[in-house]
Amino acid sequence: MPRRAVAILNPISGRRNMLPLVRDIGRMLRREGGELEILTTGRANHATELATAIPADVEVVLVVGGDGTVCEVINGLPRRGLPIVILRTGTENLLARELRMPTEPIDVARTLLHGESHSLDVGLINGRRFVAVAGVGFDAECVQRMNRVRRGHITHADYFWPIWRTFWAHRFPALRVEADGECVFEGRGLALIGIIAQYSGGLRILSQARFDDGLLDLCVFACSSRLELIGHAQRAFRRRHIGSRGVLYRQVTSVHIDSPDPVLLEVDGEEAGHLPARCEVEARSVCYLRLRPAATPAAPRGGVPVWYNSALARLADWLIGRSPKPPSESAKKRRISLTGC
Ligand SMILES: [Mg+2]
Repeated sequence: MPRRAVAILNPISGRRNMLPLVRDIGRMLRREGGELEILTTGRANHATELATAIPADVEVVLVVGGDGTVCEVINGLPRRGLPIVILRTGTENLLARELRMPTEPIDVARTLLHGESHSLDVGLINGRRFVAVAGVGFDAECVQRMNRVRRGHITHADYFWPIWRTFWAHRFPALRVEADGECVFEGRGLALIGIIAQYSGGLRILSQARFDDGLLDLCVFACSSRLELIGHAQRAFRRRHIGSRGVLYRQVTSVHIDSPDPVLLEVDGEEAGHLPARCEVEARSVCYLRLRPAATPAAPRGGVPVWYNSALARLADWLIGRSPKPPSESAKKRRISLTGC
């Protein structure tokens, strides 16, 4: 089904210029009777402005960028039910990976044309929507350091020095965390709130998160020293942090985090000011398109049963006088082990 689509492209997201690829997708759509208008962002929050101005007859939005760009777009979508498709370009692309968005231009074009609509939850933090993970403390400081030195396209390697410097400079702040109105943590540490399980660097800190269950996943690491941080990090890399000492993990509908200190906040990999943070969930409020998985061939209805073919083969062997093939040694052993003899 031909669709009118708009692409919102962040030209500095990820490792390379995606504009030629998006033009290819536009050509593929036109061959099928569709249409793709390409809009390019030029500054922070520009994607929100472009999304807000999307005309009423546009049927799908292609977001070409990382999680920050997706976050900006969903904050500006002019109507509920207008679906998005994400073409991965960012360094992390947590949401696109979680939703298994296509990476090949031909698959992106097919998804725009023939994808089925599904919905996902979004978080609402201090009145702003987010789609992946919001971080309080350590990782927000890493994001701030990254943004200070960022010039154009970045890779994972570019995060090394911001993380290294934050590791030595960070002072773990005192946090007070309330979940669903109940105080669940008071002490020094860092906190993450999210919609999806994917996290930076291949970690799955919110590993129990589902993007369509109407719940936020909250993980608080009690931490006041670099040594404790290393301990938490190595358990998180081995996916053994949940249930370990000093880790609080909850699935909730609202979170409030405050601190007497000025504590940084990041949302979907972008700076988002300081605490306090009030976070809620908007259940299934954003739509995305996904191709139906290729159907596995169904067993033919009314076909010849297996036992019939087997009996026919034995009959043919008997008629032409061919003796049955003797069982192999491995088959004999398998039979022995199955019978327990
Ligand atoms: Mg959830």
